[in-house]
Amino acid sequence: MERIGIEKYDGVMDSAVLSEVQRTARAIYGMHVLHVNSTFHGGGVASMLNSLVPLMNDVGINADWNLLYGDPAVFAVTKKIHNGLQGESVRLTDQELDAYLALNRTCALYSPMAHDVVIVHDPQPLPMIRFVRRANPWVWRCHIDVSAPNEDVELAVRPLIARYDAAVVSSERFRRPSWHLDTYVIPPAIDPFSDLNREMSEAEIDGKLDQYGIVGAEPFLLQVSRFDKWKDPMGVIRVFDTVRQEAPCRLVLLGSMATDDPEGPALFREVQKAVEKRPDITLITASDPLLVNAAQRRAAVVVQLSLREGFGLTVSEALWKGTPVVATSVGGIPLQIIDGKTGSLVSPGDVQGATERITQLLQHPSRREEFGGAGREHVREHFLIPRLLLDWLRLLNRLA
Ligand code: UDP
Repeated sequence: MERIGIEKYDGVMDSAVLSEVQRTARAIYGMHVLHVNSTFHGGGVASMLNSLVPLMNDVGINADWNLLYGDPAVFAVTKKIHNGLQGESVRLTDQELDAYLALNRTCALYSPMAHDVVIVHDPQPLPMIRFVRRANPWVWRCHIDVSAPNEDVELAVRPLIARYDAAVVSSERFRRPSWHLDTYVIPPAIDPFSDLNREMSEAEIDGKLDQYGIVGAEPFLLQVSRFDKWKDPMGVIRVFDTVRQEAPCRLVLLGSMATDDPEGPALFREVQKAVEKRPDITLITASDPLLVNAAQRRAAVVVQLSLREGFGLTVSEALWKGTPVVATSVGGIPLQIIDGKTGSLVSPGDVQGATERITQLLQHPSRREEFGGAGREHVREHFLIPRLLLDWLRLLNRLA
């Protein structure tokens, strides 16, 4: 019998978690929950909601998912807010803030939001709460790294955050006492059955890599990321250039463009220029989860050298596939990588440190296997989607 819904995870992870999911859902069967974000594709939030929303429904929660339909000009403003909350010094004009509020007002007017609980993801739909008459709890789910925000930007959005009943962040590092809000820590998770993570045969992996021209005998390093300056693709190329002096390898940079990120195309062009006439670097922009899956499985080392990172689902994805990861110790990455056990952590911008760690792994296959094995078990215990579902059900119970 084909297993569907939450039952699929039995055998993949601790069955006690799955029983606890059912027990916790029982108290709130039929609860009407709405998730709001700003894109169905691209980035970790969309990929997580694609798994989480059906699972919530499967266990008896009546979960909907709506978008803040945007206008590109407003997404340029929300990206500035995102960057500001991650610490960049940006200046928001009154006109920009007005456009941001106006778009949210229009969407709020036309969206049914009388759910028992409304969960708003990230800054784009944050102001919607201002434009509804409500008698239900609203939760702001902030996925970004707010460990050191730009003060002016935080001040601009704080009155909006203050309207919420609770906030959820990905790591203890992101609690903000200045929000004066009940804040819960719920780290993200990956779905082992999605196309991004499901098992693939060696032949299927070969086929996918061939399709995109990832061919060659040398082992390859991989970073999978949206084209976003916080993911520092140019820094990855600098590290690769020094690694290559120590050990033969190639680099694959794989990235899509999120529909709500206006900065992506410009950074993509910069990277494209840097890798011209570089047969050792393959740059791919495609929206193909099976390609990401295949590349994460086949890479010798996955890197995630972000300067800031909300969580970094790509890290758990690679660890789940038994591939060793070298990543920066920012945001939610240290939850996933226990340095020296499930992978290697380096400081952001530390080219020499990253080079040493990657080179060691390239030269010692047994170390790669050790990290990969420990990483997979760490993800099994902490970062598979039923755990995320359970955390949400517990919070919904509290709010009910
Ligand atoms: N992703 C993808 N294709 C790409 C780039 C990213 O499918 O070209 C996926 C990636 O595998 C992960 C998510 O998008 O599931 C990115 O999540 P992460 O937390 O790493 O970063 P975010 O984009 O949310 O900052």
